Amino acid sequence: MSGADLAARARAALARVSDPELPFLTIADLGILRGVERDGDGVEVSITPTYSGCPAMVEITAAIHRALDAAGIASVRVRTVLAPAWTTDWLSEEGRRKLAAAGIAPPSPRAPSCPRCASPATELLSAFGAAACKALWRCTACREPFDAFKCH
Ligand SMILES: [Zn+2]
Repeated sequence: MSGADLAARARAALARVSDPELPFLTIADLGILRGVERDGDGVEVSITPTYSGCPAMVEITAAIHRALDAAGIASVRVRTVLAPAWTTDWLSEEGRRKLAAAGIAPPSPRAPSCPRCASPATELLSAFGAAACKALWRCTACREPFDAFKCH
């Protein structure tokens, strides 16, 4: 198999790897998957967490190994790239659409806007929402609580 085919096969397998806490989103939707390069007989996968130190990265790394192993790619190296830091610009259009449909605000360095009415007037209710990587916020305009996705 040529190097280009190997990388293409790895990308196709990784396109199906979803986020452990937001299973309707893939790591590509989230912009966590940064690159897939041929590395000798295998591949090197670069990933960037949305926030450094996020515990979900361990699970995401394991899921990457499982997906590539299932695709018959035995030699896999997963590299965590912290610079440049992840930004919400890396979310795909599909990823934004899926988050909005689920009523979850995407990660943001500032206070998130309300996913229902788009008001920027929101307050943090709890730093720990339904899952470790989500925080519970409330919109002060429409009074609805919502989850904001804070890390990966
Ligand atoms: Zn609102």
